Amino acid sequence: MRTRSVCQARLVGVLCTLACTAWGCASTTLRQATPPLRSPARYTATPLAGPIRTVVIDAGHGGYDQGTAHFGLKEKHLALDIAKRLRAELQDAGLSVVMTRETDQFIPLGGRPAIANRLDADLFVSVHINANRNRRVSGIEVYYPRESVVASSAEWPPAVQPTEVATPSWTMKQVLWDLVLGRTRSQSRRLASSILRTMRNDLQVSVRGPKPARFVVLREAWMPAVLVEVGYVTNQIEAQRLASAEYRQATAQSIASGIISYIREVGAQHI
Ligand SMILES: [Zn+2]
Repeated sequence: MRTRSVCQARLVGVLCTLACTAWGCASTTLRQATPPLRSPARYTATPLAGPIRTVVIDAGHGGYDQGTAHFGLKEKHLALDIAKRLRAELQDAGLSVVMTRETDQFIPLGGRPAIANRLDADLFVSVHINANRNRRVSGIEVYYPRESVVASSAEWPPAVQPTEVATPSWTMKQVLWDLVLGRTRSQSRRLASSILRTMRNDLQVSVRGPKPARFVVLREAWMPAVLVEVGYVTNQIEAQRLASAEYRQATAQSIASGIISYIREVGAQHI
């Protein structure tokens, strides 16, 4: 798309974006260097079978917490845009989808997995944009929970009756949740691998992971949970890509493909 920004006429290249404070400015001022994208496979041919029906999508940051911001792009806006596109893709595939936020609002970290826990959702997917002091660093990373920490006020795991526990204590509750969540963590890793695979193939970018992490949004989710860092906004090439609606759409489709292929795997094992 030809630029129409006044700022391009005054500033050169990357510096131009420093003057752009409004969301969307950078998308018209960064040089277009988006490589051709491979069209992700569509997935509506066969209805999804298996136990996974509800996915909670978490757009990172929001409100006064803008996340990382470079080249005139703000993480909170990019994450929400990709999350909404991802919702549409998953709904097209027949899944029920709930967003932790649909607008530019702040939600505390712990409140995000709590939404998924309350809904008894089957998957939790958080979308973020990465940053690094070294501007050459680029690529996609997908994280899964290293460990889960259950708050003392948490419910007992489903299927456990407190009256059946000899010494009901927080330690006992933690041990029982560890048993439940240990399996969940291995599923999280599989989900992360599946998303990385499709993103590497579809978007032609380097990928790292899956990586374990102690992010609050992951460790407090009681279902398979992943956090996708869809690229480095500090890297000029990736910022250019992320500024493009076409690339954000391809990213959302690719994440959706990864989620759906994971669901198909789980469904196949469930039969
Ligand atoms: Zn973030």
